[in-house]
Amino acid sequence: MTTSTTFHPPARLLLGPGPSNVEDRVLRAMSAQMVGYFDPSLVEVKSEITRLLRLAFGTLNAATFPLSGTGMAGMEAALINLLEAGDRAIIGVNGAFGDRMAQIVERCGATLIRIDAEWGRPIFPEQIEAALKKASGAKLFAVVHAETSTGVLQPLEGFRQVAERYQTTFVLDAVTSLAGHPVEVDRHGVDVCYSGTQKALSAPPGMAPITLSARAMELARGRKRKLQSFYFDVPLFAEYWETHQAYHHTPPITFYYALLEALRIVEEEGLEARFARHRLNHLALVAGLEALGLQMHVEAPYRLATLNTVKIPADVDDAKVRGRLLREFGIEIGGGLGVLKGKVWRIGLMGVNSRPNSVLLLLAALERILPNEGFSCGSGIAAANAVYAQG
Ligand SMILES: *Cc1c(COP(=O)(O)O)cnc(C)c1O
Repeated sequence: MTTSTTFHPPARLLLGPGPSNVEDRVLRAMSAQMVGYFDPSLVEVKSEITRLLRLAFGTLNAATFPLSGTGMAGMEAALINLLEAGDRAIIGVNGAFGDRMAQIVERCGATLIRIDAEWGRPIFPEQIEAALKKASGAKLFAVVHAETSTGVLQPLEGFRQVAERYQTTFVLDAVTSLAGHPVEVDRHGVDVCYSGTQKALSAPPGMAPITLSARAMELARGRKRKLQSFYFDVPLFAEYWETHQAYHHTPPITFYYALLEALRIVEEEGLEARFARHRLNHLALVAGLEALGLQMHVEAPYRLATLNTVKIPADVDDAKVRGRLLREFGIEIGGGLGVLKGKVWRIGLMGVNSRPNSVLLLLAALERILPNEGFSCGSGIAAANAVYAQG
């Protein structure tokens, strides 16, 4: 047996719910040397990250930066900084990530008002409004823009008016939408929006970009009791980020390099072009899957481009198909979560992976594997090509 001192992970095409593959440019940026956390060169890196995050989030918010930690760090920080024991919070739950938010609300000692919708349907602003009518004075409401567990794109229209009418705070999870779908924080009146780096940004997991309105920062600063978590105290971290002076924690500098490079790639491509690319590859994938004879889980108007859920045909072995995709083609796709376990596959087309060769390779692989697993399928490639031909 030979021993190796370096890692040689297998080459994978990551078409699951995240992480997605990382741009080569981003990997190269990560190999750069460390600087200190007060180094003048880092001031520039940080301010570029802020400028580019504002662009991606569609906001002018002063408080816009990456928290150290994965997407869950963003979710946790967003909720714990706003909520205190005794507060009331309304959470729209139409999938596993809404359910996570609900769990965090309870861990804060706040009163949870849960609005459930089917896993595969969006939440409607009227449902939030009805809950606010009953629980007037609720501190916040939250929904998930891109429910990675179900493939639902949550429309954002109407929530702003509800938040304004009831003088409450709008929290949005944009982990799987940022840089793949328009988020438009300011236009939609979102007060706190967080994301992750390993999905449509195509950077490694490790950062949680977040943006907070002035009103949300005021709430976080004006708590009755100090936040129990030092690490996730957003106003404290903001002081380091903005003044470049106050030490809070040693920031993961390598990840700042990675995020900056990933955001530069977003800016070079242009947001509109990037959204259009995600949409085109999504449409081609859906056309191909349907031509294979498979059915999508979500109705067309609510489908995410970044995460596609397709029903597993009866009698087809979920784990076996996913195992063969990985072994024979190096392709990872996701299985179902929670109530959708064993019922759907989750196919991510995020960031660098949203491209025709991912779509066509996956369709070809499924076309080869499914008939062996008892599902006689049609041809998906021609249908996908027809979508590409129309552009
Ligand atoms: C992936 C994801 C998260 C959590 O991100 P991690 O990087 O896994 O911590 C939160 N919300 C949604 C919608 C996600 O898809």
